[in-house]
Amino acid sequence: MIALRRWSDQGKQQMFALAIHGGAGTLPRAEMSGERELKYQAGLAAALEAGYSVLQGRGTSLDAVMRAVMALEDNPLFNAGRGSVFTLDGHNELDAAIMDGRTLQAGAVCGVTHIRNPIELARTVMEHSEFVMLNGAGAEEFALSRGMALVPQSYFYTPERWQQLERIRGGDVALSALTISHVGTVGAVALDVDGRLAAATSTGGMTGKRYSRIGDSPIIGAGTYADDRSCAVSATGHGEIFIRAAVAHDICSRMRFGGRSLRDAAREVVLEELPALRGEGGVIAIDRNGEIAMEFNSEGMFRACRKDGGQPSIAIYRA
Ligand code: ASP
Repeated sequence: MIALRRWSDQGKQQMFALAIHGGAGTLPRAEMSGERELKYQAGLAAALEAGYSVLQGRGTSLDAVMRAVMALEDNPLFNAGRGSVFTLDGHNELDAAIMDGRTLQAGAVCGVTHIRNPIELARTVMEHSEFVMLNGAGAEEFALSRGMALVPQSYFYTPERWQQLERIRGGDVALSALTISHVGTVGAVALDVDGRLAAATSTGGMTGKRYSRIGDSPIIGAGTYADDRSCAVSATGHGEIFIRAAVAHDICSRMRFGGRSLRDAAREVVLEELPALRGEGGVIAIDRNGEIAMEFNSEGMFRACRKDGGQPSIAIYRA
């Protein structure tokens, strides 16, 4: 294996690495049963493995982030794909974005209602259209034209998400659209053996959102960004604030123009900029040296990472 690996300009062996998240604003520790926690950990482990095995086989970071996110989209525990939260009028509207750090090409979809894996469609928009973002019915028509199948809305239904909506409709403030206690957006960032960075994010948005509301996840520069000159970022949290703070691009810019380390850039944005706007949530980020940052200002963030040859690390709450 080692003989196959590329050596970077500095003569260092080019390593690969991957980080994923399953959303910030986890269940309060007191409400998280051991059994439930194990299920989340297993879901994160499976998604991490899906992406890591791509990188290990010398696949691209784009393929790795897409595979990891698809695994999370297919897992009903997370708020993306199957298991997405409901809008106030009882539907599921999904958003996703993907970005290639080498070319700065990006693809995104928002407000899609019949796409099993929105991240796959975002990538198709990036690679097979002249656009960056497609919305709603037009995005789905494009999916059909590319041979992708549509799924019925019932595919996304889970009793738990429906109960959350009912609680909001019943006036449960703890679950109002202003809190992120019920989220679970997913994302991935990766560095491949060619030194190429990529980021991907997918979400059902926030429970009880007004129909047609779009959050930060599919907005390039807000919830998702990748640039080989700095880093790749996928965010999770209160989308309105993340859009206003242009979170993902801000982290990249602090590295590129401000000379910050990945960790410092991520900490400044998540622990200083966001709280100043009352923005709750977190990010995962990776730079071209394979450094990983997983910063959050919420009670927890479902997260996992693994570096070339290292062991997987999976966590939910603070250490
Ligand atoms: N950022 C997502 C949104 O606002 C929600 C989340 O991360 O859970 O749509």
